[in-house]
Amino acid sequence: MTAGSGAPEIGEPFVVRGKTLDGEPVELWVGSDGMFSSEPIPGAETISVGGWVLPGLVDAHCHVGIRYGGGIEDVAGARAQAVVERDAGVLLLRDAGSPADTRSFDDDPEMPRIVRAGRHIALPKRYIRGLPVELDDETRLPAEVARQARAGDGWVKLVGDWIDRGTGDLAPLWSDAILVDAIAAAHREGARVTAHVFGEDALPGLLAAGIDCIEHGTGLTDDTIATMAAGGIALVPTLVNIENFPEIADSATRFPVYAAHMRDLHARVADTIGAAHEAGVPIYAGTDAGGHVRHGRIADEIVALGRVGLDPTEAFAAASWAARTWLGHPSLEPGTPADFVVYTDDPRRDPAAASPDLVVLRGAVVGRSPALA
Ligand SMILES: [Zn+2]
Repeated sequence: MTAGSGAPEIGEPFVVRGKTLDGEPVELWVGSDGMFSSEPIPGAETISVGGWVLPGLVDAHCHVGIRYGGGIEDVAGARAQAVVERDAGVLLLRDAGSPADTRSFDDDPEMPRIVRAGRHIALPKRYIRGLPVELDDETRLPAEVARQARAGDGWVKLVGDWIDRGTGDLAPLWSDAILVDAIAAAHREGARVTAHVFGEDALPGLLAAGIDCIEHGTGLTDDTIATMAAGGIALVPTLVNIENFPEIADSATRFPVYAAHMRDLHARVADTIGAAHEAGVPIYAGTDAGGHVRHGRIADEIVALGRVGLDPTEAFAAASWAARTWLGHPSLEPGTPADFVVYTDDPRRDPAAASPDLVVLRGAVVGRSPALA
């Protein structure tokens, strides 16, 4: 998609007429201040009529600055990743841990909004080398959590489990007692906490300590699903990244128990995440882009959420308005920044092929398909 010649000049008011996914007609007046106006604006140019309008899409778990295939991007590389997300309609990213400094993007009107979780927190040799802050001993966890809470944008990311090469299987990193102190420390800073969890054993301790979200969640059981549903604890399964589990298992030839565990979690993922959805656990769309997944794959995650039982409207909600509300961002309300996307055809008919025909960020057209130019 390219910015077409038919786009209004930056700062000129415009109007989009279309419908929401529930079929309600909607008229979006965008003022020269980049905000939605509650009133029609005289002289506003009509730039789109009859399309399906959604609040800006959300990738609720990605990593800006972690290179596909490994390593850390420089600022230009991280910026290129963010642009790929934006062009796919993702205007709000929850960065679930990155050592790259993307703070300068906050002042760049062309960049999507990023909600950061600071850096991953792990123990030595218990996560991907080079990515986390590694603590020599877990008693430092509460202080580090408070530090990352202040460095981020309201989220802290723990590595909840990882292969323990001593036992040769997935195992929790942290004791239940230190998690209680650590999560309380984040909450005192006004931050929410989430954790990378592939297996079963780390979940009870994290949930008992009051964690706010679980990433991946392939090891959820009936009991831990019930706890999450009762507490309204969110789940971001990153299904497009779970597809990498067999490859991870293949590369772990020295750890057959771990490899078998990963294959089993992968084989059951649709049932596991489907059961969480059935039970009422709030689920949001995240691709885990960076590292093992390329950026720009939100449509694939929406399709994958459909395969585990979300209906098409629920799957788009998980990647748009529901996720925005969860992250504290508005959706098409007057007086708020104009971040939205428009599809010419109903994106639920073929989510795999759905790509927005118009992308508006901070009230400026940043992407427009030739069909609308
Ligand atoms: Zn991740």
